[in-house]
Amino acid sequence: MSDYRIETKCIQSGWKPKTGEPRMLPIYQSTTFQYDDTEQMGRLFDLEEEGYFYTRLQNPTNDAVAAKIADLEGGVAAMLTSSGQAANYYAVFNICEAGDHVICASAIYGGTFNLLGVTLKKQGIECTFIDVDEDEETLAKAFRPNTKAVLAESISNPALVVLDIEKMARLAHAHGVPLIVDNTFATPVNCRPFEWGADIVVHSTTKYMDGHAIQVGGAIVDSGNFDWEAHADKFPGLTTPDESYHGITYTKRFGKAAYITKATAQLMRDLGSVPSPMNSFMLNAGLETLPLRVERHCYNAQKIAEYLNAHEKVAKVNFAGLPGDKYYEVAKKYMPNGTCGVISFELCGGRDSAVRFMDSLKLASIATHVADAKTCVLHPASHTHRQMNDQQLKEAGISPGLIRLSVGIEHVDDIIADLEQALEQA
Ligand code: PLP
Repeated sequence: MSDYRIETKCIQSGWKPKTGEPRMLPIYQSTTFQYDDTEQMGRLFDLEEEGYFYTRLQNPTNDAVAAKIADLEGGVAAMLTSSGQAANYYAVFNICEAGDHVICASAIYGGTFNLLGVTLKKQGIECTFIDVDEDEETLAKAFRPNTKAVLAESISNPALVVLDIEKMARLAHAHGVPLIVDNTFATPVNCRPFEWGADIVVHSTTKYMDGHAIQVGGAIVDSGNFDWEAHADKFPGLTTPDESYHGITYTKRFGKAAYITKATAQLMRDLGSVPSPMNSFMLNAGLETLPLRVERHCYNAQKIAEYLNAHEKVAKVNFAGLPGDKYYEVAKKYMPNGTCGVISFELCGGRDSAVRFMDSLKLASIATHVADAKTCVLHPASHTHRQMNDQQLKEAGISPGLIRLSVGIEHVDDIIADLEQALEQA
């Protein structure tokens, strides 16, 4: 990790050209890398030597961007994936197998809810969803002897619950398991979960990191801090020989990078959700301006949250930057410079009014997205979270009339003017 500030890391970390090499990150759009020597290739396969041989396992463009993201989060190493979904899947599956159990925040992105509640269940991994705002004593009851991880979002999508990271890390560690934090909404510009005890960070880089809605991607970052050997019986995949890698024991061979090396060498090799180098190149360009964009997103969102909060047709605004918000204090602790550009709110007129409002917007578009430069809106109950029943929606903090507004980086007065005219129709 370098000592530079995050603005400098976003520009300078990752690709380090030597003299005469391209200043900008090259796109190594090649599936394979050639060798003259049979033995050397063999050593690469045995993880005895570092080097590139096939892009599904490693690629220089992807690696440079992964190194930048690891630096931004303050981790030892990172791996890019072809989507945020893949990142969440690999992050959990890297330390869980059939018969295991995980704990996950109920206020979570709908795709993650499905992944853990439905798909991983079919693979024999059970999940208990918890309300992260409960006290530690209550939450401790969710742990079982076969629990292997706790997963939560630093700011949840779309309920905007801000996680008490220290509390969750304490709970997870008291039960000998790592805390995995999805830091997509906050980004490392506003929150660095490792500084508060999280062990693994995941991202949908599709969102603010890219920032222009031009690539789908994900990342897993390893803090290197979790002591897998201290709980060796819980994590045999890391602490006992891997038969698929000629008996390598990841903790013994790779120390602090055991978890991320296993994810790359074993899961990515076998499951293959690798990003295209072209996408990683675009992600890198997005990362260079991340701090500037995040600042503008947060500035605009603050003004708009205040505007909506004072509007007679608006029943409730969820935004941790508002002094009355349930998460105002916790956000001040973990994200003192701002949270994100996403706001959710309810109109007094409920579901019908929400639909009229959304259909009347001119500048803001209806899009299944958040966190890019353009302002957009979505109705979670009929879009991202439509697979949930009413009870599940309630637990995820989503009412039928809730609107999610992803505030872009246009001029704030133009966005407010658009909201104003749409509210008149609501
Ligand atoms: N995590 C969070 C917090 C998200 O908001 C999303 C998508 O919206 C994901 C993960 C999944 O990411 P992707 O769409 O890149 O697969």
